[in-house]
Amino acid sequence: MRILIADDDPITRRLLKGTLEPLGHEVVSVTNGTDALEGLLRDGAPQLAVLDWMMPGADGLTVCRTMRARPDSAPYVYIILLTAKVGKADMVEALDAGADDFLMKPFDAMELRVRLHSGERVLNFQKRLIEAKEALRYQATHDNLTGLWNRGLVLETLDQQLSRARRSNDPLTIAMADLDHFKLTNDTYGHAAGDAVLLEAAQRIKHQVREGDLVGRYGGEEFLLVLPSTDAHQALQVADRVRAAISGTPMRLPNVAVSITASFGLASTADIGYDATALLQAADTALYEAKALGRDRVHTSCPVRQHTVQMAQ
Ligand code: GH3
Ligand code: MG
Ligand code: MG
Repeated sequence: MRILIADDDPITRRLLKGTLEPLGHEVVSVTNGTDALEGLLRDGAPQLAVLDWMMPGADGLTVCRTMRARPDSAPYVYIILLTAKVGKADMVEALDAGADDFLMKPFDAMELRVRLHSGERVLNFQKRLIEAKEALRYQATHDNLTGLWNRGLVLETLDQQLSRARRSNDPLTIAMADLDHFKLTNDTYGHAAGDAVLLEAAQRIKHQVREGDLVGRYGGEEFLLVLPSTDAHQALQVADRVRAAISGTPMRLPNVAVSITASFGLASTADIGYDATALLQAADTALYEAKALGRDRVHTSCPVRQHTVQMAQ
């Protein structure tokens, strides 16, 4: 472990270092509370600290309080307070300030070792909890076959992006993509091959869009692209690039190469407004029209403009 020690007394520092380093720990040594805080607040800081109570700059309690005042998302630092104060009231004060443990001065090397062990246990436990939380979060927001955002996440983000776009009067276009005759692909090559095609299609789509664009798996073989700050004209070019990337070269599966095409329906805020449901409906209608027109194409639905044309006639 990397351990920060803070003590203004050079002998204590030397003793701590002399105890910790032979145990395989890497020691970062500072002489006052201000440097301790600086060392503990930077990125990649040690996660365990042995702090003297009384030191120049910030004292041990101030360092504890400052560390505990950080948001929950900040990495936890396990703090052992080193002190000559032995009273019950001192102990309460230190625990209240956020210290995890205590060590009396002059410290006993064996005792320091076992206290470090409990610190390590707490930190390992916390690391596993964070990993489990991250894994859960990933599962809740991603599609497990393609690794794309899942439907729930993509719809939630669409709402957020639409609010943002409305506030800044920015265009936004969505594209609904659907693989053509995909049932036939499954029937011909099997479901596993179908899965591989979905994965490859997802990767090809991702490669063609910008960093800020959002790609999600909307349904079985349907993908939803959310393109912020993109008008219908620009989106048409993006969608056609994606279309060409899917149909351009056959997808190589272990035993066979499969030619795949996809159809796209676009809907833009300039035509439909900033309502997610209306946009999704319009994109779906446009997709249906793209299918009817022969597939492997991009189609834009623009009922408002069509309506205006009809009124003028
Ligand atoms: P169209 O061009 O009109 O879209 O025809 P299609 O065959 O693609 O459309 P249809 O809706 O009839 O069939 C979609 C197929 O996608 C049927 C379903 O079994 C398949 N599918 C959906 N999800 C998955 C999946 O996760 N893996 C695989 N292998 N197939 C899937
Ligand atoms: Mg399909
Ligand atoms: Mg479909």
